[in-house]
Amino acid sequence: MTSSETNIITRFAPSPTGYLHIGGARTALFSWAFARKHQGIFLLRIEDTDRERSTDEAIQAIMDGMDWLGLTPDAPPVYQYQNIERHREIVNQMLSTGLAYKCTCTKEALDEMREKAKADGKPIRYDGTCRNKESVADDLPFTVRFKAPLEGATTLEDLVQGHVNVDNNQLDDLILLRSDGTPTYNLSVVVDDHDMNITHVIRGDDHLTNALRQSQIFDALSWPRPAYAHIPLIHGPDGAKLSKRHGALGVDAYKEMGFLPEAMRNYLARLGWSHGDDELFSTADLINWFDIAAIGKSPARLDMEKMQATNIHHIQQGDEDVLAEIAIEQLSLSTENKDKLMSALPIIKKTAKSLDNLIDNLRFLFVTRPVQLNDKAIQSLTEEKMANVRKAFAALENLETWDEEGIADFFSQFMEDNELKLGQFGPAMRNMLTGTGSPLGVYDLLRLLGKEESLARLKDILSN
Ligand code: GLU
Repeated sequence: MTSSETNIITRFAPSPTGYLHIGGARTALFSWAFARKHQGIFLLRIEDTDRERSTDEAIQAIMDGMDWLGLTPDAPPVYQYQNIERHREIVNQMLSTGLAYKCTCTKEALDEMREKAKADGKPIRYDGTCRNKESVADDLPFTVRFKAPLEGATTLEDLVQGHVNVDNNQLDDLILLRSDGTPTYNLSVVVDDHDMNITHVIRGDDHLTNALRQSQIFDALSWPRPAYAHIPLIHGPDGAKLSKRHGALGVDAYKEMGFLPEAMRNYLARLGWSHGDDELFSTADLINWFDIAAIGKSPARLDMEKMQATNIHHIQQGDEDVLAEIAIEQLSLSTENKDKLMSALPIIKKTAKSLDNLIDNLRFLFVTRPVQLNDKAIQSLTEEKMANVRKAFAALENLETWDEEGIADFFSQFMEDNELKLGQFGPAMRNMLTGTGSPLGVYDLLRLLGKEESLARLKDILSN
C-alpha cells in the first residue's frame, strides 16, 4: 500500500449480546492495527438492532474490553439502531427504483416452498413468487426483498480468502425489511458501511457469504464496495471452533487472569497473522509490521501455554509506569507508594512468572512491622544463622553508603573478616526482611527497603 492511499477507515461492528469475545477482540485488533499502520481511522459500530438480545451491560463490556486492550476508536461509537430510519429510507428508495419489491408470501407459503425444495432435493431458496407480480395487495403484511441478479456471478477479491465467486442463481432474494418494518442485518450493514465511508471491512470468515450478498446490494445501489478481509475464526487447541469448553471466551476473564493488554495484543495478533518468525513484539512493532496479506487462510489455535509465555515476556519487559499502576490497584496502595514501586520494579519484574507472582513479589515493600514470618521462613532461622545475621546487623548499622555498590562492598568485606559465605546468613536475612522469601537477593532487598526500614525489620526479629 502506498502513502497516497491514506484515507483508510476500518470498523469493528460487534453485536452487544454478551461479553467481548476473544475472537471479536482479535477482529478489533486487526482493524485497529491496519488503521493505525496507515494513519487511518478506526471506528466502532455497535450492532444493536436485535432489541431482545442487545443489552447495556454487553455494550459496556465491549467498551471496557476495548478500553483495556487499548483499542480506542477514533470517534464515538455508532449505534446501528439509531440509523433505523436511514435504513428504511434506503429500502424505500430501492423499492421505488425497482431494486427491491414487496413480498406478501405468508410464513405458511414459505414453509411449504421450503418443504417442497427439500423433497425435490433442490437448494432452499425463495422462488420469486412476488418478484414476478405486477403489484401486491396493499392490505396484506409484507416484507421487502432485494431483487437479486438472476444471472451471471458475483465475485469478490477478498484480501485474505482471495477470489470468491458465486453463481447468482445460488443466492435468492434476500429480505431487506421484515414485515414488522425492521431492516435486516445485511441491509443495515451495507448502509452503515457506506455512510461511515468504511474502506476496509475486516471480520470473521463466518461472514463471507454475507459479503457476497452485501456486495450485490452495494453494486445495485452503485455504491463503491469496501475491500473485504475475512479472517479465519480462532480454534481451540484440539482444532475445533473455539467454544466454552476450551476455556475463557470473554476478554474480561483474561484481564482477571493477569494478562497485560500489551501481551494480549501481541498474542492475539499472532493468532492468524505473522511477521516472519517473530513471536514476541511490541505494539509499536505490530503497527509497523501489520499487513493484511500476512494473515493466514487457516484457523489459528489458541494455545494457553504460548499465551502465558507471551505474558511473562511482556511483564518482564513491561513499562514500569503501567506495572506500578496495576500494583497500586491490586495491592490497594495509595499513589504515594508509586516511587517505591518504580524503584523496585526494574529488578522485580525480571523475576516475574505471572502478574500475580509479580504482585506477590512486590508485597514485601509494604508490609507493616514487625514482619510476620511464614513457617518456612521460621524454619530457616537456625541458631547459627541468627548469630551470623546479628553480626551483620551490628556492622550494617555503621554503613553510610546505602546503595548498590556500598552494600556489595560492605558484604564482601564482612564475609572476608568473618570467614563467612553468603549462604550462611543471606537467605535467613532475606526471610527476616520479607517474612516470605523473595526471588531477589538480600543486597537488593536491603537497598530497596532503605537503611532505616531494613535495620528496623531485622531488629524486630533479632531482639525477639
Ligand atoms: N455484528 C456482526 C457480528 O457481531 C458483525 C458484522 C460485521 O462485521 O459486518 O458478528
